[in-house]
Amino acid sequence: MRAALLHGPGDLRVEDVADPVGEVLVTIEAATTCATDAKCLRYGHLILGPYPARFGHETVGVREDTGERVLVGDSVPCGTCRACAAGRTQLCEQMTWVLGGFAQRIAAPGRALHRVPDGLDAAGAAMAEPLAAAVHAVARAGDAAQRPGARAAVLGGGTMGLMLARLLVLAGCEVTLADRHAERREQARVLGAHAVARLEPAGHELVMEAVGRPAAWRTAVEAAAPGATVVLVGGCPSGSDVTLPAAPLHYDELDVRGAFHHTPAEVDAALALLAAGAVDWHVLAGPTIGLHDLHDALLRPSAGEARKLVVDPHR
Ligand SMILES: [Zn+2]
Ligand SMILES: [Zn+2]
Repeated sequence: MRAALLHGPGDLRVEDVADPVGEVLVTIEAATTCATDAKCLRYGHLILGPYPARFGHETVGVREDTGERVLVGDSVPCGTCRACAAGRTQLCEQMTWVLGGFAQRIAAPGRALHRVPDGLDAAGAAMAEPLAAAVHAVARAGDAAQRPGARAAVLGGGTMGLMLARLLVLAGCEVTLADRHAERREQARVLGAHAVARLEPAGHELVMEAVGRPAAWRTAVEAAAPGATVVLVGGCPSGSDVTLPAAPLHYDELDVRGAFHHTPAEVDAALALLAAGAVDWHVLAGPTIGLHDLHDALLRPSAGEARKLVVDPHR
């Protein structure tokens, strides 16, 4: 079979390799790309196995044993560590990562597989992985996301920010998304949010940050009204330090929370939202490419609309 293999930072090769070995073989229909894949290619990543490493973690295909269409979840929590025992499986201390969506086949533990609802396209189903992280982040916002009419802000109009905005619209919030790209503001409007270039300071009961830069984390705190909740969704570059204004954290009793990854149940919830059309994945889908186009596509600087590429490994 053909697979995209990382041989080191910046070194991606499309090669013929033996079929992978594992519990369940899945013939891949589509795998979508995200910023994590670009990071894996540019710098390497701690979730990658030893080189040469397979990657791609938003993967949908057909089980070879049963013929069922499945989303191949990118992680399987151990179920027994302290985090898992506490019900926070996204923080599992011994997570098994299941990577390798940029290939014609993948082998996965049965527990990683989620049935794709009938009628949902492979490209749309693959987006259940990042959407599950958005579902998780909104859950981390707690009550703040469940007050109809609450003024909610999303900082950053990448695909994650757009997904967060849509989920908050569904929750009944008054959502404003901030991004400097007019094209992304237009996408946010299509999803039911207001869109601006810059957030008003101190004006939002809920702020969700989806940029992943220290300056944006600060902007998120500055945009929070007294008593607000701030959820930090975008991962900053490793080793980053963040400076935040002390006064609103203390006098305005801001709740500042991180959000990372998702649970298996949140993946199923995301699949259901996509299948029901509650989150229109077409707004977030870009062109379909083959494995040979992947290198250049991942390194291309992002501008304009925020869209995920759809990799068809058989073209
Ligand atoms: Zn991703
Ligand atoms: Zn665990």
